[in-house]
Amino acid sequence: MTESTARQTAGSAPGTVDRAPLRLMAVHAHPDDESSKGAATSARYAAEGVEVLVVSCTGGERGDVLNPSFGELPATAEGMAELRRAEMAAAAKALGVSHRWLGFVDSGLPEGDPLPPLPEGCFALVPLEEAAAPLVELVREFRPHVITTYDPSGGYPHPDHIMCHKVAFEAFHAAGDPERYQVEGGAPAWEPAKLYYNHDFSMNRIRTIHEAVVDAGLESPFSDWVESRAAREIPEREVTTRVEVAPYFPQRDAALIAHATQIDPEGFFFAIPRDLEADVWPFEEFELAESRVPTTLPEDDLFAGIRTEEGLV
Ligand SMILES: [Zn+2]
Repeated sequence: MTESTARQTAGSAPGTVDRAPLRLMAVHAHPDDESSKGAATSARYAAEGVEVLVVSCTGGERGDVLNPSFGELPATAEGMAELRRAEMAAAAKALGVSHRWLGFVDSGLPEGDPLPPLPEGCFALVPLEEAAAPLVELVREFRPHVITTYDPSGGYPHPDHIMCHKVAFEAFHAAGDPERYQVEGGAPAWEPAKLYYNHDFSMNRIRTIHEAVVDAGLESPFSDWVESRAAREIPEREVTTRVEVAPYFPQRDAALIAHATQIDPEGFFFAIPRDLEADVWPFEEFELAESRVPTTLPEDDLFAGIRTEEGLV
């Protein structure tokens, strides 16, 4: 990219000229969330030349081993943590993205009635200013035009997913204000242009795929889900943006498989024939939560309103 193609973008530090490429930051709670939410979108943009950075708020220390076919596990917590880090590195490679840890400790999913208290020192108990500080710093360093994360409910009620929303929301609003989160020698303020929420598990998607699977005479893995979600009447969030990603399902699947302790290759995520999925639901969905650039809804591109007419990506 030469000086003559330098440009001013909407997502920029005040008074500076930014240069392509575009940058996308996907903020997630645990290692493996990046591979089940918005993964094919990350792979597509990375393949198109966008710089994509996945951020994991926690190390996933309290995640259970969810793959019954996984072999012998490391005996120590440190060995397990090392294994999760290696899995995450392999997933990032499969998606073609960069990755950073924020370094917080997994809160675990509390179970029981009444719910037990959260463990001391875990991510969800860290005061917001302290929890958001490293992400604000990373936003100023990486300078994303677009940030994706979860909606205020967390997408599902895991305390780390709700906390992940809070810190990403805070960073989106604070990173551009040089008066906030000041760090000696830190990167200059940066204002991202758009904030999105991931919506890969909408009732619309689940029901559409479920019905297509049943119509094809196959057994649907979503039967219970469709019934229990209907019974709970969870309000649907608004979808503003559908990104076409079917050609990147193989990268998404490779990233899921890379989390070998978490994802069963014979399980839920792989129960839908991929040609059927590509046929009836070839996209990933997002909700535009905040925008500092004008855009027209619905969109099919997270960078709508940010790309210049010359198309720098
Ligand atoms: Zn998670």
